[in-house]
Amino acid sequence: MKKVNIVGSGFSSLSASCYLAKAGYTVEVFEKNDTVGGRARQFIKDGYTFDIGPSWYWMPDIFDKFFADFGKKTSDYYQLDKLSPAYKIFFSDDVITIGDTMDKICEEFERIESGSSVHLRKFIHKAQENYDIAINKVVLRPGLSPLELVTKETVVRVDQFFKSISHEVRKRFKNPKLVSTLEFPVLFLGAKPSKTPSFYNFMNFADFGLGTWHPRGGMYEIIKAMRALAEELGVVFHTNSPVEKILVENGTVKGLQANGTDYSSDYVISGADYHHSESLLDSKYRQYTETYWEKKTYAPSSLLFYVGFTKKLDRIEHHNLFFDTDFERHAEEIYDEPQWPSEPLFYVNFPSATDATMAPEGCETGFFLVPIAPGLEDTPELREQYFDLIIDRFEKRTGQSVKDAIQFKESFCVNDFVEQYNSYKGNAYGMANTLRQTAFLRPNLKSKKVQNLYFSGQLTVPGPGVPPSLISGKLVSSLISKKPTS
Ligand SMILES: Cc1cc2nc3c(=O)[nH]c(=O)nc-3n(C[C@H](O)[C@H](O)[C@H](O)COP(=O)(O)OP(=O)(O)OC[C@H]3O[C@@H](n4cnc5c(N)ncnc54)[C@H](O)[C@@H]3O)c2cc1C
Repeated sequence: MKKVNIVGSGFSSLSASCYLAKAGYTVEVFEKNDTVGGRARQFIKDGYTFDIGPSWYWMPDIFDKFFADFGKKTSDYYQLDKLSPAYKIFFSDDVITIGDTMDKICEEFERIESGSSVHLRKFIHKAQENYDIAINKVVLRPGLSPLELVTKETVVRVDQFFKSISHEVRKRFKNPKLVSTLEFPVLFLGAKPSKTPSFYNFMNFADFGLGTWHPRGGMYEIIKAMRALAEELGVVFHTNSPVEKILVENGTVKGLQANGTDYSSDYVISGADYHHSESLLDSKYRQYTETYWEKKTYAPSSLLFYVGFTKKLDRIEHHNLFFDTDFERHAEEIYDEPQWPSEPLFYVNFPSATDATMAPEGCETGFFLVPIAPGLEDTPELREQYFDLIIDRFEKRTGQSVKDAIQFKESFCVNDFVEQYNSYKGNAYGMANTLRQTAFLRPNLKSKKVQNLYFSGQLTVPGPGVPPSLISGKLVSSLISKKPTS
């Protein structure tokens, strides 16, 4: 039986491990940290449960498809609730609530801009067509050739690859609050809306058409489910096992070294950050230079706070976006002139608002996220300064005092991303999906220099986010097993 060793245990590694074990390979996973899950690990303190990274469960069909590939259902492992409302956006002079149906969302759009619901329905209809093409066809291709992007459906939509999502949204909607609402979903792809092709409006269908879901107990339930499935299929996990070297002989991978021990295998997949993965190879076997990595556009890093509140908070939902400052300016401070943002937008997640298991009774679990440029200086003083800034704005916008109810707060930023995940420049979400960094233009799933060495995860194909990471694991396993993806 052929053997595969996998570096890291994020979503893409877990996904690859399941597909390859099912295809008959012997699979072992090596994770440097003490728990599996990568950026999606869990943190529990004093009865408060936090997802350290992802909190938005979008594109439920992709999770369903993953488990269905193994004859399972998500409900075999965790219970999903559709959030109603999906989320709330705080602006300086208003609050927009995104409901759980198109009718409710149209009503809210009409309240802001008369006649906008007609444009919205058309826009979402186009987005749905793109979703079907992207998710069921294009994204399942491994990014080996530009021809993969050429289908009869994409050919007639070629203009959508050269116009930006910003352009498309602004053509139809005038109110800046509606523009921000419709530009928000593509932020998950890691780039500015003005740099993201309008074809990616399929994210708007994911948002308004498919809805926002919550696995009861938190996103870590998915990690637990995937690990359980992998173990059912025979995968072996080694935690506290940092990989120090990928072993190569005469241009062919021979295994890896972790904690000073050599583990031989026929194939290696690295689901760790790509730049770090290549650093585990002798320099002659690396495909990309430091200049290559330096020039790429990364998705943002984040300043995160995990806060336990000793009371229930008012006027909040499960997901809350604070877009009460200048969206453009913050984007410029992330991408164009990297610096700590002057007036940051931020996001707050209160899973305990809908899920009582996430906090002690009468308390609230709060996760605060400020997107920032990767590679910024990260000091305790800066973290404190930004916490004060956002908690003041949070109090003002939600009209309540919360500082007096903080039981504890922990922070996580650039230095932690580097130290905990070997992340390049402390990026949180990998490499942005811009036109020049899409599909075959992204770092490869398959090494061009080492036989039987592969890569997966948010820096390769198809890109950042949990659903793409699941797909990345599937793609890489099908390259190895030579079974086509469907
Ligand atoms: C704060 C934050 C919020 C997010 N929010 C969302 C969201 O709401 N929805 C969404 O869909 N996506 C979200 N994402 C993105 C999503 O979490 C990621 O795209 C996804 O989890 C990445 O998975 P991955 O397989 O690329 O690997 P990672 O999760 O990056 O895992 C890589 C693993 O490799 C390990 N590793 C590194 N070096 C070594 C080594 N030498 N030896 C052994 N192991 C090693 C690391 O410890 C890590 O466990 C968010 C991410 C962050 C950080």
